[in-house]
Amino acid sequence: MMPEELASMAGFMANPDLVWEWYNYLRSVLFYAKPNAANLALAEWGNLCSDYSFAIENFDGLHHVARQQIVHELHGNIRANRCLRCEQEVNDNLLDTSGGIPYCPCGGAYHPGVVWRGASKTHPATGRCCS
Ligand SMILES: [Zn+2]
Repeated sequence: MMPEELASMAGFMANPDLVWEWYNYLRSVLFYAKPNAANLALAEWGNLCSDYSFAIENFDGLHHVARQQIVHELHGNIRANRCLRCEQEVNDNLLDTSGGIPYCPCGGAYHPGVVWRGASKTHPATGRCCS
């Protein structure tokens, strides 16, 4: 499967185990990633201005690691996961993926909380479409 297929709902529906394996690999790489100077500077700027927020296309979650309070993640966050059925969001820290695809208490499969190819970029907090 090509990378662009791994980042699509069609790819997930065709082979959810492979898509989870791919995103678990990405998570393992990001586990060691640290916020860069830009992440830290933007977070510091945000702490100085109470009405400051910004939108990003990265889905690595490093702005949160840098303690940026308000970030509009246009492409989602790989550290968050969303149920296909009820759309409940669960952080990686609370999800056991060791046994394969994790399932929500409602019975729906969780998928990585990134915006996939062809999906709407509607931000969950604002409801506004970004593309
Ligand atoms: Zn659910």
